[in-house]
Amino acid sequence: MRIITNLEEMTETARGWLSGGSVGFVPTKGHLHIGHLALIQAALQECEINVVSIFVDAVAPGSGEDPAAYPHYLAQDLQLLASTNVDVAFLPRAGDMYPPDFSTSIAPTGPLVERLEGASRLAYLRQFATGILKLFQLVRPDIAYFGQKDAQQVAIIHRIVRDLNIDINLRVLPTVRENNGLAVATSNAALSPMQRQAATVIHRALLAGKAVVENGETRPASIEKAMADMVATESAVKLDYAAVCRPDTFSEIDAAAPGTLLVIAAYVGMARLIDNILWTSDDRWLL
Ligand code: AMP
Repeated sequence: MRIITNLEEMTETARGWLSGGSVGFVPTKGHLHIGHLALIQAALQECEINVVSIFVDAVAPGSGEDPAAYPHYLAQDLQLLASTNVDVAFLPRAGDMYPPDFSTSIAPTGPLVERLEGASRLAYLRQFATGILKLFQLVRPDIAYFGQKDAQQVAIIHRIVRDLNIDINLRVLPTVRENNGLAVATSNAALSPMQRQAATVIHRALLAGKAVVENGETRPASIEKAMADMVATESAVKLDYAAVCRPDTFSEIDAAAPGTLLVIAAYVGMARLIDNILWTSDDRWLL
């Protein structure tokens, strides 16, 4: 596995691949877990050349993730990546990605960056959008892999690719969960064993939303209440929002129907956890 930190070297390497086979790309912030590995395995199965980036340009405020902690996991992450068949670990330096005179960003607008995660994190989501676009330009993948767990980021990336005519295919992989339903996440590391147990209520709350939908309920407020009521059964978990929305625009819906996303964000101790389940437009549930 080659480790590339230099931006020009990444550009040159990507240019050399132009006729060398399909390039798969998994962008991460590092501190790798089995959720990331699922994306990497999917890329390895589908693409001839594979790149995993580790780059923390920003972590969501209040997420419980500590940007300063990430470098501590680098040796471990590189060891893990080296044990796969990934061709390149791309570790751009923050100062190269964002030099002091950096002045060109993309600024998605609308519910996609303004509602739910965007209500308190608009600047973060825009920074994320600019960062992903830069990584796409540097790696020039054919296929990029993302996790459904971060549904709003996934929707933003789909929109960027469509709006800016970027020639990249996107693959969205299901959320990897622990046996108890808890979505695997970097922020889980901040949870005590008791908090970890309490946090499983988030997935149960999503399933409670699904249950009322399956009983014929279509009113968003009623579905959201069923989810919020379930979260309220765990005193250690403080709800930020429980909502139903369109999975592509994150706008509000009048009535639940196939093609509806159920999303929850909640605080557990220092960690802020997000999770979702999707009622697909072809009437399946992605849990
Ligand atoms: P991060 O390093 O947290 O920015 O995540 C990098 C990628 O891994 C994103 O596309 C995430 O959606 C994805 N990811 C994180 N956790 C999971 C999970 N539990 N299951 C599937 N994908 C995940």
